[in-house]
Amino acid sequence: MKKGVNILSDEIKSKLTTRNIYRIFNQFIFPMISNDEREFLREVEDYMLERIEPSINLDKDVYELFKILGKKNYIQRLNPYGDLAGSGRYGMRYELLLAMATSIVDPELDLARVVTGVIFGNPVFKYGGNKHVQEILDQVLKGEKIGCICITERERGSDAVHMRSTIEERGDYLLLNAEKVYTTNGPVADYFIVYGVTDIENPRGTMYQVIVEREFEGIETYRLGITSIPRVQIGQSIFKNVKVPKGNVLGGRGGGYTNLFTGLVAERDAIVGSSLGVAWLTAITALIYTNLREQFGQRIYQFQGIYMPITQLFTELMAATELGLQTGDEYRKTLKYPDKADIHKYNAAFSSGTKFLASNLAHKINYEMQQLIGGIAFTDNLRVEKALAVSHVQEIIGGSRNIQLILTSRALRDMVKSIL
Ligand SMILES: Cc1cc2nc3c(=O)[nH]c(=O)nc-3n(C[C@H](O)[C@H](O)[C@H](O)COP(=O)(O)OP(=O)(O)OC[C@H]3O[C@@H](n4cnc5c(N)ncnc54)[C@H](O)[C@@H]3O)c2cc1C
Repeated sequence: MKKGVNILSDEIKSKLTTRNIYRIFNQFIFPMISNDEREFLREVEDYMLERIEPSINLDKDVYELFKILGKKNYIQRLNPYGDLAGSGRYGMRYELLLAMATSIVDPELDLARVVTGVIFGNPVFKYGGNKHVQEILDQVLKGEKIGCICITERERGSDAVHMRSTIEERGDYLLLNAEKVYTTNGPVADYFIVYGVTDIENPRGTMYQVIVEREFEGIETYRLGITSIPRVQIGQSIFKNVKVPKGNVLGGRGGGYTNLFTGLVAERDAIVGSSLGVAWLTAITALIYTNLREQFGQRIYQFQGIYMPITQLFTELMAATELGLQTGDEYRKTLKYPDKADIHKYNAAFSSGTKFLASNLAHKINYEMQQLIGGIAFTDNLRVEKALAVSHVQEIIGGSRNIQLILTSRALRDMVKSIL
């Protein structure tokens, strides 16, 4: 859709800049983070203002912006890629901060970035040992190529384990046959992480996780009509008798299942960062706007009907942000203690509960603040409608609300079991 006319007053427009939104955001978040993290966040924000914001074109897909992010190693910050190892500026907390800062400037960009950088990048970083796979990772983390992940099928959504996609072992290669749907970045992706099973009756024992490359024969991708995020391509990905070389296997027979489930924790945590980002974007926009907009002869923030709900939502957002950052600490523990099953079990439930809470709250904040701001929040003069649309997607991507609650409820049941 072409950009609409501007009806925002010059005064409010001059205050509602991304720089000001970052300024206010920093006042909230700085007390929660370390000096190093603050310095990192300031650097990211400066880069977003100088390089990303001027390059955003709302009529174009987000993908050209990957290259700009890649120049500063901002495609992801979860893993120590490039020269990050020595700096210490990586890990889930840094990834969460990157997601928040990116979402504030461009919510759609962050959605697509998390998929290529974390959801695709993390398993490749963890399980891709050989030189060829390392080259794939380089291209993706530099923002030159695009990655995606193919789990969901037409008939297997929440019940992802019981997939129908098959992978047959054929000597020196694997034969993949699959139809995956809702693949974020899929129609434009260069690389696909695909899951398939050798025996559909035994998915846990026979699941593979492989990297498929765009040039392989037998791949077709088509775009789904998802109107809420027009600059991100979501697709149907078809793999017909695709020959996958053994070197592209990340998780071998049965290993694919373990990788799928351990990978979901990082995926959920990263989405928490994006959800918090879109919530902060709209919450601060509302705070600035309602402190400037006048009706009935006064600033609308002075009406109890405006400042009370805004304050309540900020309180909830502060609490969710503390919790979100805690997912970063919990994730670090899982890396430190790879063999401690109790830590992994706790974190699986913790990440699900937090992802549920953050994405659900982001939606509530965007919806409520839009109503509190009024009509202008429905136009493209503000980023509220876009943030709201992205929050819709964040609640289902990485597993729907109910599935997050099911995973958390299992942990609750286990706790009470000990006294029953
Ligand atoms: C925009 C977008 C981007 C996406 N990106 C990707 C991607 O990049 N890669 C990928 O693989 N997938 C992706 N997905 C897929 C997403 O993860 C699935 O949509 C999600 O897992 C739910 O599957 P489903 O849509 O088939 O719903 P279903 O599984 O059919 O569920 C429908 C409803 O039933 C509920 N439900 C199902 N089972 C239960 C249960 N046991 N108890 C209670 N309620 C239940 C669900 O919560 C939901 O409300 C994306 C989806 C969207 C919309």
